[in-house]
Amino acid sequence: MPHFAEGIARFQREVFPAKAGLFARLATAHRPGTLFIGCSDARVVPELITQTDPGELFVIRTAGNLVPAHTPGTDGVTAAVEYAVTVLGVRDIVVCGHSACGAMTALAEGHDLSTAPAVAAWLRHADASLARAAIGGGTVDVAALVRENVAAQLANLATHPSAARALAAGEVRLHGWVFDIADGTVEELPATASPVLAA
Ligand SMILES: [Zn+2]
Repeated sequence: MPHFAEGIARFQREVFPAKAGLFARLATAHRPGTLFIGCSDARVVPELITQTDPGELFVIRTAGNLVPAHTPGTDGVTAAVEYAVTVLGVRDIVVCGHSACGAMTALAEGHDLSTAPAVAAWLRHADASLARAAIGGGTVDVAALVRENVAAQLANLATHPSAARALAAGEVRLHGWVFDIADGTVEELPATASPVLAA
């Protein structure tokens, strides 16, 4: 494992003391205001992009920042969404896509995923995203698919009873973002990009 011991030592020596008061408060309190749903991609680091402190973001990261639509039964994403919304009472939910997303590229370019069947199955949660991005025929533009996918996952999110209830009560707001790795920009997609946001 590269540099982890060195990094932990530096954290304990330099970073933790500088935030000792914050960590003392956080030791007994967990009240993040935002649920951040991003891609597992190592280049997309929520706290770095938003310059937030520990305790501010409740984070779910999945391949392709996908949020499966609600189904009976449970899974890790559903449980995390429910916990964030119902127990922690987050006021904002961000779904953040990004440039050069491997998951979206695989879908847009029709990569052979036969050696990664679980990945292939997981990416089916982006079927609606792909269908929307493929309107007009021809090749699917990765950047366009990334945007459509953020909108589609916001719609999926709203099918979860916990999120649906909070949205109906006006207790939570949804945001769709796209992070560009090359230039560091974060674009907030217009409300009209998602029927959920427009509601
Ligand atoms: Zn990605």
